[in-house]
Amino acid sequence: ATGAGYRGRFAPSPTGDLHPGSLVAALGSWLLARQSDGAWLVRVEDVDPPREVAGATQRQLDALAAFGLQSDEPVVRQSERGALYAAALDRLLAQGDAFECHCSRTDLRATHGIHRHCVPGRRRPDPAIRLRVPDGAVIAFDDALQGTYCQDVAREVGDFVLRRTEGLWAYQLAVVVDDAAQGITDVVRGADLLDSTPRQILLQQRLGLPVPRHAHLPLVVDALGNKLSKSEAAAPVDPARPLPALQSAWAALRQDPAAVDGIGDVAGFLAHARAAFDAARLRGAAQVAFAASQHTG
Ligand code: GLU
Repeated sequence: ATGAGYRGRFAPSPTGDLHPGSLVAALGSWLLARQSDGAWLVRVEDVDPPREVAGATQRQLDALAAFGLQSDEPVVRQSERGALYAAALDRLLAQGDAFECHCSRTDLRATHGIHRHCVPGRRRPDPAIRLRVPDGAVIAFDDALQGTYCQDVAREVGDFVLRRTEGLWAYQLAVVVDDAAQGITDVVRGADLLDSTPRQILLQQRLGLPVPRHAHLPLVVDALGNKLSKSEAAAPVDPARPLPALQSAWAALRQDPAAVDGIGDVAGFLAHARAAFDAARLRGAAQVAFAASQHTG
């Protein structure tokens, strides 16, 4: 069922167990891919060892399997793809679009972390490498769910990091290189990443890469309106009881609960969900609630 050219992905970072926000992103990206008879790929974004939790990658992949969400192609791990990121960085350096930056965090305090010019004379043994963002670099794109989004990247973000001082790859570079290398046509993810998209489009332009379509799912919050993401202290979803979590994720995607009511197994749930999914119900929603206790399974 991968004939239509649509290629989507789910790209979790192994910073903890699979959380409600991740499950909603996984199910939402899977449903949108399947609606287009497209492929759905899982990519492990393990480029940030300091934030990685031991064993989290395997637990996330096991949880996805329990939810019936399995990658159509071998799972790709960013920790093994440094050569691709290095090649892209070399190209940006050669083009004059990237530069070594010796500034410290303290140097950027006065500009609230936004880099526009290096402090003259600073030297450090392990400089970061940033993308030069020229004045007036305004990027706008049409998001399938959130509408038009526009950002003045120079003013709101500044020259952004591609390789950190510790030699670690920045998320922005890795995601752009991998989405292109994997032929991703449609980026579906949480709205917390909406404001990263203009940076990624700028990088795609500088690297001569295609710009995928984007659909940012509404932010997942708890009953009190607190953001539920892997980085917060939210309780992980329970892969041992996959149906209640899948039903909550389905409801958080604003789909009709009746369409999946009373289904006793994961494969049946996914088949019904796929048939009943209506993307229009998601459009324009800023946030959605994940009500874990709503179902008894
Ligand atoms: N790895 C990122 C995260 O878990 C998502 C990246 C993406 O979908 O572009 O927040």
